[in-house]
Amino acid sequence: MGLLSQGSPLSWEETKRHADHVRRHGILQFLHIYHAVKDRHKDVLKWGDEVEYMLVSFDHENKKVQLVLFGEEVLETLQEKGERTNPNHPTLWRPEYGSYMIEGTPGQPYGGTMSEFNTVEDNMRKRRKEATSLLEENQAVCTITSFPRLGCPGFTLPEYKPNPVEGGASKSLFFPDEAINKHPRFSTLTRNIRHRRGEKVVINVPIFKDKNTPSPFIEAFPEDDEAARASKPDHIYMDAMGFGMGNCCLQVTFQACSISEARYLYDQLATICPIVMALSAASPFYRGYVSDIDCRWGVISASVDDRTREERGLEPLKNNNYRISKSRYDSIDSYLSECGEKYNDINLTIDKEIYEQLLQEGIDHLLAQHVAHLFIRDPLTLFEEKIHLDDANESDHFENIQSTNWQTMRFKPPPPNSDIGWRVEFRPMEVQLTDFENSAYVVFVVLLTRVILSYKLDFLIPLSKVDENMKVAQKRDAVLQGMFYFRKDICKGGNAVVDGCGKAQNSSELPPEEYTLMSIDTIINGKEGVFPGLIPILNSYLENMEVDVDTRCSILNYLKLIKKRASGELMTVAKWMREFIANHPDYKQDSVITDEMNYSLILKCNQIANELCECPELLGSSFRKVKYSGSKPDSSN
Ligand code: GLU
Ligand code: MG
Repeated sequence: MGLLSQGSPLSWEETKRHADHVRRHGILQFLHIYHAVKDRHKDVLKWGDEVEYMLVSFDHENKKVQLVLFGEEVLETLQEKGERTNPNHPTLWRPEYGSYMIEGTPGQPYGGTMSEFNTVEDNMRKRRKEATSLLEENQAVCTITSFPRLGCPGFTLPEYKPNPVEGGASKSLFFPDEAINKHPRFSTLTRNIRHRRGEKVVINVPIFKDKNTPSPFIEAFPEDDEAARASKPDHIYMDAMGFGMGNCCLQVTFQACSISEARYLYDQLATICPIVMALSAASPFYRGYVSDIDCRWGVISASVDDRTREERGLEPLKNNNYRISKSRYDSIDSYLSECGEKYNDINLTIDKEIYEQLLQEGIDHLLAQHVAHLFIRDPLTLFEEKIHLDDANESDHFENIQSTNWQTMRFKPPPPNSDIGWRVEFRPMEVQLTDFENSAYVVFVVLLTRVILSYKLDFLIPLSKVDENMKVAQKRDAVLQGMFYFRKDICKGGNAVVDGCGKAQNSSELPPEEYTLMSIDTIINGKEGVFPGLIPILNSYLENMEVDVDTRCSILNYLKLIKKRASGELMTVAKWMREFIANHPDYKQDSVITDEMNYSLILKCNQIANELCECPELLGSSFRKVKYSGSKPDSSN
């Protein structure tokens, strides 16, 4: 989840005193990097995925499942047996926010050949197996986006009662500090976000109103003024960073051939974020209740919202410099490629001095405003030993601000003195139950980058419309019910040349007919006379590629899953979980998920993930990889 420094973390008051220093040197560090590598051209696209996992423990006797707080020890063993023993080890492990979480990636990035798509799932299986091998028989590594009873009494093992005191990290009524990763970065982030904001974070998720759900649904907090004030009727109230950053996701990072290709991919993929997020929807339950949303995005956004009341526009500006319209965790605010410029229709708050400085240093307007926008934020953590750095050879201050801007896409300059290229990270996807599904989503997105680059596709629409799509994408069953703005003619090509395109226009001059509202089914599968569909485009690309039969077979299975999720033939994880709970014999149609219901759900998820039972409504018949033999595989269904 970002930069991990060692040392003594500073309090918010101390960190604040160094904020300008961090920004000033962060910019100098960025400039050093930029000037050193702006002309670097790489010839291959490299990429890698990141999967976040939760560690759970089943109590079969009492029918209870809990999150186990030993991620740090599991991680230590995984790293010791893995990367530290063998630099070519096939997996890499990193810490994540929850003390019950770990994050796994392939040991080496994947390269540009098609056959590598056939190794993704194997690698994910290896990761699951490797982590599972360190656990006891009644424990498991789960790829679930949100743990349904996160924040309910006794949801961790060992159990801890939250201790909501000012000196603690989150001061939560529900989420104990012991559930936060023990690395000081995570608790410091939590405390400093709260102190910077001036109050606890507030997350209100609409409750799903079932037949017997009280209406209005009101939780009273008579003992706690702050909660009584902050919680809204008909909403599930949450009050800690852990409710957001304690969720898991699936990310993909691409290394582009050059900075301009990275900027182009950043923009194009930004428009895809809401679509793929809705397709990957996997988080319908929060704090033991059935909610009315299917995706985690807004929850995490609120869970790390460090803006003060002034910045949020609730009080006149006095101590702060800007009104800021979004949380640090949110969708991107500006396109980076020249083609994107005319679609930049969101008001961008920037640090003007930094912007001017960047221009003077030869950075173009679009990149300068992007960086100057990221740098309106304060550093949230700072380690005493890491204040004075060598700006020519280190980038911690830049990374400090960069890695706490958690946006749908991240534009990543190379680290100093490395042979890594310019990268972009695709961040909106929810993690799926199985390695098969996670591979399918990853391969779909990577293939999409291939066709975007090969066919010079252009998905750009005004960025404000992408923001509207992000809102729709999180709603219950958005995949089937939602309508999304999407560009009609994506194959014009003329507009979408990587280096340089038509002169920028003002967005008000845009012909309104460039985009229209479409369903996800239309966007993914196409509709006669309306839109060709992303899967048909991918299929025609694959027809023209040299691909060995086995790889083609895997890819077709992956695309089939995406296709059927988009058409509704298969369920999203969110929908499947909703149905599972709705049909549970204990469910009282009151939106409540009990310990026992949670237990059966997570047990079932774990059985599906380990291929101990089938789940055709979620995975279809392509559940197990069918080894190809015989005639050409059929891409038509
Ligand atoms: N777990 C976060 C999410 O679900 C992402 C944390 C990270 O940036 O690694 O989006
Ligand atoms: Mg992560």
